[in-house]
Formats: sequence, C-alpha cells, structure tokens
Amino acid sequence: MIETIATAESNRELAPGYRMLTINLIEDVRVNPGQFAMLKPRGSLEPLLRRALAIYRVEGPQRLSFLYQVLGRGTTALAQLREKDEVEALLPLGNSWSIETSGGGGAIVVAGGIGSASLLMLCEELKRLRVDTKLLFGAATERAAAGCGLEDFRALDLPSIVTTDDGSLGDKELVTAPLERELREHGHKGSTIYACGPWPMMRRVAEIAAQFKTRCLVSLEAPMGCGFGVCVGCVVAVNTGGPLDYGSYKRVCTDGSIFPSEAIRWEVNAMTH
Ligand SMILES: Cc1cc2nc3c(=O)[nH]c(=O)nc-3n(C[C@H](O)[C@H](O)[C@H](O)COP(=O)(O)OP(=O)(O)OC[C@H]3O[C@@H](n4cnc5c(N)ncnc54)[C@H](O)[C@@H]3O)c2cc1C
Repeated sequence: MIETIATAESNRELAPGYRMLTINLIEDVRVNPGQFAMLKPRGSLEPLLRRALAIYRVEGPQRLSFLYQVLGRGTTALAQLREKDEVEALLPLGNSWSIETSGGGGAIVVAGGIGSASLLMLCEELKRLRVDTKLLFGAATERAAAGCGLEDFRALDLPSIVTTDDGSLGDKELVTAPLERELREHGHKGSTIYACGPWPMMRRVAEIAAQFKTRCLVSLEAPMGCGFGVCVGCVVAVNTGGPLDYGSYKRVCTDGSIFPSEAIRWEVNAMTH
C-alpha cells in the first residue's frame, strides 16, 4: 500500500452521471483484480475523507483508471478534476478475486450497475487463463450500461447476457434472473460465481448460489472512512460458524472487500445496506 499524490490525466464522462478517471503515479504499483483505492482531490477539505473506488484498469505500472458514478459530495469533487490536477491516493487496498481453476469449472461473472468497476480486470484475467466464462451484465438503463463500461466488457468478447431494468437494452429483467436460469438449465458444475453490485442484488446472488450449491464470491461496497482498517466504519456482519453462531463483524476494507457469499449475514446487513 502506498500513500501518494497522483496526477489526473483525464476524467471523461461516459454517460450522464458516470465518469472514467485516469491517473498517473510517480512510482510503480502492483495491482490484483478486485483491489481498490481511496481517492480525493489534493488538499480538499470538503469532503475531508477520500472515497473508495475499485481499480478498473491498470494501463501501465504507473497509470490506473477508475470508473465511477457521481453520487454525492466525494464523487462530485472527483468529477471536478481536470487534466494535471493532483489526486491524493492510497492504494492498492483490499484482497483480490481468487480464481479457482482446479475443479475444472468455469466462471459466471455477475455485474450489477457500477459494481462492474470491480470486475473488468477479473474478466481480463479469466480470459487470459482461458477459464470458461459467462458474463451477466445488468444496469438500470442502456445509458447506465454505457456508463458502467459495457463497451470495455464487450471488447473482451466473452459469452454474455445484458439486462436492463427498463428493457432499453438486452432483456428487461434483473441480472439475477439469467443467473438462476444458467444454473438451473446448464448446471455449471464446479463453477464459481463472482459478483459485485448493489446489496439487494448480491443478497439474491448469494441465495441462488446456495440453492444450486455453487461457490460464490462477492465484493462488498460499504461506506468507508479510512480504507486501511482503523476507523471500523465499513464493518459488515458475518457468520462465525458452529452451533452457537452469534455472528461477528469484519472490515470490508482489510478483511475484504471480497468475501465468500455464505460468510455474509445478509439479513443483518440488510438493516444498514
Ligand atoms: C471497496 C469499494 C469499492 C468501490 N468501488 C467503486 C467504484 O469503482 N465506482 C463507484 O462509482 N463507486 C464505488 N464504490 C462506492 C463509492 O465508494 C461510493 O459511491 C462513494 O463513496 C460515495 O461517496 P459520495 O461522497 O459521492 O456520496 P455520499 O454523499 O457519501 O453518499 C451518496 C450515496 O451513496 C451511498 N454511499 C456512500 N458511500 C458508499 C459506499 N462506499 N458504497 C455504497 N454506497 C455508498 C450513501 O449512502 C448515499 O446514499 C466503492 C465502494 C467500496 C467500499
């Protein structure tokens, strides 16, 4: 992990409310798929805290891209960055997607909305490793799909299904519907599901994975203060196992952001997420 000042190279709008920020670092970093960064414009006091963004793409050892949705104060401040502006960056953070190839099973990648940002590098790696991969890509609308990087995923040429909530692109259904069909109709024995998206989506993905006894990893997006385990602002309720399972808590920043789906106490976390 390094704490550094980076320089913005570009900060393009991909669709209304969705942007791609590319930054240059002054030292090399090694990033694994699924890791994230904490970012804010240099010297910004409003907001004070950096915001968590998945590392979308590594374009070189010192050049990284981030795909983000402009939601509130932090992402609005990031949206103001212009070429050559300085960015306070803490990275790379968190664990990474663990790709299971030993069982001979394939991969089903479920991207919901801006959760896609955590999954592009994973898809690139699955393709490089020649893992049989199916991509399920869901967004609210055709515009949102463009904002969530659909073209970059399409460029990988993986078998894929696109869904939108309003039917403006692909099938009009939730992205969990084709996941259920895939497992029901094709079995996908020994496969792993990799998912990132809104909490209700991931909860449903976890239920489907449990129903079909399929290994499932989820990357959680929890409001986060520090990014390195000190503030404990991002904790989520997890199962501890055993007959007297009262549960416990894990930090999304340092214990995650990627967890086995069965480790998460979805019903408890639903009260806050
Ligand atoms: C590990 C990780 C990786 C992430 N990667 C990306 C990414 O690649 N692209 C992207 O667009 N977003 C990503 N997020 C979510 C992003 O951090 C939040 O959208 C951002 O912090 C919102 O800050 P804000 O100041 O703009 O909004 P705020 O004013 O803080 O909040 C606006 C709304 O977003 C909700 N919110 C705030 N923080 C988070 C959060 N961390 N996760 C989910 N909802 C939140 C609030 O409840 C509120 O409804 C990631 C979050 C985590 C934890």
